[in-house]
Amino acid sequence: MRLGLAANQRHHNHADAALFRWLRANEAGIRELQLGLHAVGRTYEAITRAGLLIDYPALRRYPHGREGGLMKLVAEVVGLPDSDRVLDGAIYLIDPVDPSSIFPEAVALKRQCVIHQKPFISTVASARDWIEMERMHADLAPDPGADRLHALETQTVALIAHDAMKPQMLACAAENFELFSRFARRVATGTTGQRLNELAWSRGWPQHQSWADRYQSGPMGGDAQIADLVLERRCQRAIFFEDPHVARQHEADIQLLERAVTTVTDETVCMTSPGVVARWAAAVGRRIERTGAPHA
Ligand code: PGA
Repeated sequence: MRLGLAANQRHHNHADAALFRWLRANEAGIRELQLGLHAVGRTYEAITRAGLLIDYPALRRYPHGREGGLMKLVAEVVGLPDSDRVLDGAIYLIDPVDPSSIFPEAVALKRQCVIHQKPFISTVASARDWIEMERMHADLAPDPGADRLHALETQTVALIAHDAMKPQMLACAAENFELFSRFARRVATGTTGQRLNELAWSRGWPQHQSWADRYQSGPMGGDAQIADLVLERRCQRAIFFEDPHVARQHEADIQLLERAVTTVTDETVCMTSPGVVARWAAAVGRRIERTGAPHA
């Protein structure tokens, strides 16, 4: 497996920066998985300067951002004909107040990951979660360092889907109903939440109780309300199925929520596609088999 790798400057310009927090937590896992990392220039240089991933042949250097490094990652997420240049997803540790995080190539990187159902990993928590997920699929022993990410009983999950993606959100919730029911709390934007509650009631959830607490509909500000929960560190996982093929009247609100997640980079995992959620759900199941089910 190969991922693109980039981090905004603040995330690699001091010893305890986000990129290094992630690598220190997951260097062993990266080596176990033999994960290919295609790192844009400054990110690559920061890793080597910090003495991380030494002699790791699957770490490859890409051009600097100003020479098109991030643009090349976008093309590789799509895949290039007649070559093996194809990435399975991208890690882009975003500093929301760095202007380069909203350059077109940065926005396109996320968009092409979403379109091609590949992971777009924008936070330290998401990167740690992804490594543990792939470790579970590779039949490796659970990493105790990832226990906190798996303490679903203490966490809130946000579920948001644009109209064209609502059938996939409902299918995902139906398929993983018990898993999602284990979270301490579920929250959702208005219409998504209504549909999810109807699903839950049809599955025997008590009729007088919400399965998902509903906020405003997205265009009426629900994304901003959920962003506030994220910023207050009261939402540890955001599952957001966007429709990348239409113009969105509330584009600013959508970006606001995604930027909120990157603001609390160690705290919140963000997942942007049904395929990634399905793979995560299977990994959680495997981890529970290995560690034993938590007490309800
Ligand atoms: P909705 O909002 O669940 O109310 O449809 C989602 C969105 O459009 O952001």
